[in-house]
Amino acid sequence: NRQIVLKNYVNGFPKESDMILESSATINLKLPEGCDNAVLVKNLYLSCDPYMRMRMTVTEGAYFEPFTPGLPLQGYGVSKVVDSRLSNFKKGDLVWGETGWEEYSIISPPKTLFKIQHTDVPLSYYTGILGMAGMTAYVGFYEICAPKKGEYVFVSAAAGAVGQLVGQFAKLLGCYVVGSAGTKEKVDLLKNKYGFDEAFNYKEEKDLTAALKRYFPDGIDIYFENVGGKMLEAVLSNMRLYGRIAACGMISQYNLEQGDGVSNLVFMVTKRLRMQGFIIGDHYDMYPKYLEMIIPLIKQGKICYVEDFEEGLENAPAALIGLFSGKNVGKQVVVLARE
Ligand code: NDP
Repeated sequence: NRQIVLKNYVNGFPKESDMILESSATINLKLPEGCDNAVLVKNLYLSCDPYMRMRMTVTEGAYFEPFTPGLPLQGYGVSKVVDSRLSNFKKGDLVWGETGWEEYSIISPPKTLFKIQHTDVPLSYYTGILGMAGMTAYVGFYEICAPKKGEYVFVSAAAGAVGQLVGQFAKLLGCYVVGSAGTKEKVDLLKNKYGFDEAFNYKEEKDLTAALKRYFPDGIDIYFENVGGKMLEAVLSNMRLYGRIAACGMISQYNLEQGDGVSNLVFMVTKRLRMQGFIIGDHYDMYPKYLEMIIPLIKQGKICYVEDFEEGLENAPAALIGLFSGKNVGKQVVVLARE
């Protein structure tokens, strides 16, 4: 059983060498005796997610456990059940949820593991649009932002796993949507594939406040926050009265020893803003409702989803750290096996 193991806790930007590919004893395709309340799965697709960086460090007050050096990383994936001691999972079932960065995993007990019901869509979608990233876009936009038709919406890291969906949801609702991303290729995708009204490369802007002013002369009603730091600062001064900010993530901060201080917070008061953080793990009860909405939209071609595939477990560390330099175009997936 090949595994990607964390070598040691990480400081600063993660490197490929922070993770090691190890081979452990050959896997027995039966759950061992005494391993009740568990499933044994073969992992097919692994999801690369920015929050995994936070689990590579011991973080005070975190909502997750840090990874254990010497053990495989944990993350989301799509898997096939090989053996099960639980009545709700049986051999041959396809599932998505939390698993290990390895070829086979014993999940005991499965806390976040969903049986896949719709198999007439790409299976890899369950690492993205039909999995955790999709739920994040859905809950973050519809529940946290409380959007209304015609509102002005700004999305950062807009070409990523979550952002591309937030923009499309906002367009479907009839909002004006602008996204920021870090390359020309991504900016083109935002405008020409996902249907954002406007998009810009934040790396080419000397003055982010002025850039936002250019696209939102009347201000921003809703900011879907994925990056934090300087972008948040610039957004605060461009928000409209009673604007809402969904604090989904702040990727620009995850590799810093000390977070950037954000100025302009006084606008929270003067513009009567509401900013709310959320963690998607608290909202999986809404998954069936989300599927009801999203499956028809996918089938009718009203929503598209771009994925970036890396082949092979040995290439998973590079794929994961690529999130922090913007190497991924769309949802970063690692393919271990297709069935
Ligand atoms: P993405 O697919 O968007 O990948 C990350 C992207 O972030 C990169 O491609 C890069 O794009 C951008 N980026 C990296 N470093 C920086 C930086 N320093 N400044 C600005 N942009 C940067 O990831 P996801 O869509 O999976 O995640 C987006 C955000 O949502 C993250 O902050 C993540 O932590 C958060 N999240 C939160 C969840 C929750 O429960 N609250 C659940 C899932 C995700 P570019 O080329 O544009 O720079």
